[in-house]
Amino acid sequence: MNNLIKLSFFFFLFSCVENVDYTNNIKNDVMYLSDDKLEGRKTGTDGEKLAAKFISERFKYLNLSAKGTENYYQDFYFSNRSNPHQEIVFDNKNIDNKIHARNVVGFIDNGGENTVVIGAHYDHLGYGEESSLYYGDEVLIHNGADDNASGTSLMLDLANRLAMKELVSNYLFIAFSGEEMGLLGSNYFLKNPTVKKEEINYMINMDMVGRLNEENKLSVSGIGSAKIFKQIINANNVEFNLVEFGSSSSFGSSDHASFYYEDIPVLNFFTGQHEDYHKPSDDYDKINFTGITKISDYIVDIIEELDPIEKLNFIKAEESKNATPRFKVGLGVMPDYLYDEGGMRISAVTSKDKPAAKIGLIKGDIVVKIGNYEIIDMMGYMKALSEFNIGDKTIIEIKRGDKILSFELNF
Ligand SMILES: [Zn+2]
Repeated sequence: MNNLIKLSFFFFLFSCVENVDYTNNIKNDVMYLSDDKLEGRKTGTDGEKLAAKFISERFKYLNLSAKGTENYYQDFYFSNRSNPHQEIVFDNKNIDNKIHARNVVGFIDNGGENTVVIGAHYDHLGYGEESSLYYGDEVLIHNGADDNASGTSLMLDLANRLAMKELVSNYLFIAFSGEEMGLLGSNYFLKNPTVKKEEINYMINMDMVGRLNEENKLSVSGIGSAKIFKQIINANNVEFNLVEFGSSSSFGSSDHASFYYEDIPVLNFFTGQHEDYHKPSDDYDKINFTGITKISDYIVDIIEELDPIEKLNFIKAEESKNATPRFKVGLGVMPDYLYDEGGMRISAVTSKDKPAAKIGLIKGDIVVKIGNYEIIDMMGYMKALSEFNIGDKTIIEIKRGDKILSFELNF
């Protein structure tokens, strides 16, 4: 090779490495967003800024109009809490020493009266300084492929597909920042909406949609927040084993909760909890890309059916029937929210210092009884737990394989 060819060959190689692919492809999007280069997309970091840039370029590629405050970006600033109970205050005027976060907002303006918000958070845990469930000594990047590169990529896929359709409503796509720190991006957006809040018809949220399993279990929450949801969710479902858990706003809550509290109907899509949740092992090689495409097909059908219908009426969940009980104690486990074969199945033991670890419960154990309370499902488990106080002693019964074991439990 002569030098000139050699040189251009190197430039070619260089451009391949640096070239980011903006064409529509769910797998590419997940892989880019969950790459080590983005260092876990923690709110306010350079890695998160790279992710925001990528999402804005993708919006641009799809010809979405910019609907942030500065082009596609909606920047916001805040100081981190000094304790977990403190409320975070946004302050875009005094920005020195503040955390600088940004939502990324794109718009399909069909000239309609109503706007549908389609959102997913794109931030994650960085190196796991906060909210990590990994207790190893080595400091590792938490790539958050399922949480929530998957939802962000699904949102981008929906943007691509809805941009090509003739629809009556407008569609606003928001990649939220600050979700992991307490739904900050969605909170900020609703305090400073870039479309008229009264015109928002309903909101679709996607948080962890990359682990569709062999049983095709898909959780949709919020179905009760508008009358027509149930009918449309069921009518278009051809292949999912649908599970609805909790009330519209309760556990598993993500950015849709912020909209729900503003009396906006919401639907949240979720393929379920797993043992890599909030750990460095939540990587792209465990993502079911075909599953994400299937969910995208399903959501497009739902959206198309809702598109011409007049503005939905918001229905607040019945607080008494579905309200999540308050807990004073915990076992230190992560429940498998999609398990519905009786009892509460443990998907991970999350803390070394909590009762479950102390009595030797393990992943896969099914809690069937606590004290006098038979546990039939998740809600029953939560109700039972809410009856106990710190210091209480009781007996817990679990199913392990085909054996029933009982342990003395010390809360
Ligand atoms: Zn999430």
